[in-house]
Amino acid sequence: MSEMNAGPPAVRAGSPDVVLRAEHLSVEYAGRRPTRAVRDVTIELRRGEVLGIAGESGCGKSTLAYALTRMLKPPALQTSGSMTFFPADGPAVDMLALQGEDLRQFRWSKIAMVFQSAMNALNPVTSLARQFDDIFEAHRPQMDRGARQARARELLDMVGIDPARIGGFAHELSGGMRQRVMIAMALALEPEIVVMDEPTTALDVVVQREILDEIERLREELGFSVIFITHDLSLLLEVSDRLAVMYAGEVIERAPSELVAAAPAHPYTLGLLRSFPDIRGARRELRGVPGSPPDLRTDIRGCPFRPRCDYGFGACADIHPVLRPPAARASLDSAAGLGSRAADWEVACHLHDPGQRPAGPPPALSGMPRAGTTSAETTSAETTDADRVGAADTTGGDT
Ligand code: SF4
Repeated sequence: MSEMNAGPPAVRAGSPDVVLRAEHLSVEYAGRRPTRAVRDVTIELRRGEVLGIAGESGCGKSTLAYALTRMLKPPALQTSGSMTFFPADGPAVDMLALQGEDLRQFRWSKIAMVFQSAMNALNPVTSLARQFDDIFEAHRPQMDRGARQARARELLDMVGIDPARIGGFAHELSGGMRQRVMIAMALALEPEIVVMDEPTTALDVVVQREILDEIERLREELGFSVIFITHDLSLLLEVSDRLAVMYAGEVIERAPSELVAAAPAHPYTLGLLRSFPDIRGARRELRGVPGSPPDLRTDIRGCPFRPRCDYGFGACADIHPVLRPPAARASLDSAAGLGSRAADWEVACHLHDPGQRPAGPPPALSGMPRAGTTSAETTSAETTDADRVGAADTTGGDT
């Protein structure tokens, strides 16, 4: 286990607020040069919330999802960390201690998953009825055929699909309907946690909106918690209560979603926010994040984002940044309306480390909305020379 992103858990074990906590989780894909896809990630999911996980392709978010559901298969291997599930009623469960039948029973009944591609996840050669049957036969063997069919119909109806389609096949359904079936299957055993891995990525925006509304309605109705994974940060800002932004296998910023939207503290988060248009704000050039993520088979020295960062300075080349409160958090802690929400905000960037940069971050990354600007204007503001610190930095070192 590496020492990156290490830190004490924010909520003590057994808190009724937390349903899942993963600490210092690392996952590798075996090979001549192992790919360290998830690197010392600590996250917690609170009861009833939507926790968004964002990042580019290859940042480790899907691998993290498979680790959290204990669905990793070789060559993927969890190399360190712990995962604890806190059921609503009953003692905490050490998820890594679960094996064999215990693990099989735990998966899907406590934590279920909606996979990235419904067409690939659904069996193309068996009917929907048969696939629902498989779930109930494995996890609810006491249910007879009539009860299984009734429950499957009820689930389809719950996600807005005519129960008469129970005898149909996946290829007979539209993309949106297939995704609804996947959600119905994930909810079949009334899990406390549903992990959704890019559940709307392949859908057009109208169907995407319908599915998101459906998820929100079901969550309010059934009370489950959601880990929602996508590369689309704008979507996550809309649907999630809190966000974790991943880069190169690590969580580099985590915060309540409204804080990320108003004033991101990490240069990568700012870059992601500048990558999509604001339909309400003024027209502006979309910047994107130039460059590519690092090769995760190599040891990464210093900050993994350094080669792509507009703000890098001397310390970034050698010292790995760890999650810490952004510079503005102290003032936000007492700000009206935010209360304890601001205490959830952490960022892994030396700009926010007074020991590395006493002057603090430049205005664009100060963690505070600029005076007189809306959140959209703040995130869309172009980086100015004054914002950048690399060229003018007094601490030395290349960028
Ligand atoms: Fe990394 Fe330095 Fe850029 Fe912060 S300023 S993201 S530590 S390279």
